[in-house]
Amino acid sequence: MGVDLVLLGPPGSGKGTQAARLSAALSIPHIATGDIFRALVEAGTPLGQRVKAFLERGELVPDDLVIDVIRHRLGQADATHGFVLDGFPRTVPQAEALDRLLVELGRPLDAVVYLQADRQSLIERLGQRAEVEGRSDDRPDVILHRIDVFLEQTAPLIDYYRRNSKLRLVDGTRLPDAVAASIREVIDSLPRDAV
Ligand code: AMP
Repeated sequence: MGVDLVLLGPPGSGKGTQAARLSAALSIPHIATGDIFRALVEAGTPLGQRVKAFLERGELVPDDLVIDVIRHRLGQADATHGFVLDGFPRTVPQAEALDRLLVELGRPLDAVVYLQADRQSLIERLGQRAEVEGRSDDRPDVILHRIDVFLEQTAPLIDYYRRNSKLRLVDGTRLPDAVAASIREVIDSLPRDAV
């Protein structure tokens, strides 16, 4: 059996890097809503065009659309034995919808790993990524806005998951190997029937 995980954290906290590593180590799909939306934009479909405006401004895509995408993705065969969610949920309504969906599927989340990072290290990392990856939302003004959007709309999820005892905190400011080792400890500490 695999694990059902959420990686939570501000933009630039290393969610994508760590989710990719977990996906490879545990043979579970890495489901990143940001990647799904970028692919939709790339495809240039009407849905992609609708989504593009939100991505470019660093705003969140509307909840109903995001939830539809996740419902569809979690229904695919490779997600039957675990998944690592990266960039979803990002609002309390999304977290509630995920809970309802997982109840329907009879598989509650095993853990939510929160990658903690201070504002300055986020700004530095996203600035570096802008040079390497050329993402249109890694422009300085959009970076600052995305951090604010995180604080307003996504940070409340920390309490949401603390209340249901799913939350595990990991210091995301360290080098990727050290962060990966801490996440591994979290997974190894889960009840045996979860893994
Ligand atoms: P990311 O790659 O996770 O940083 O996401 C890039 C962008 O995709 C975000 O700034 C949002 O515009 C959009 N996005 C990704 N995931 C979500 C989500 N769960 N809810 C709303 N918008 C999202």
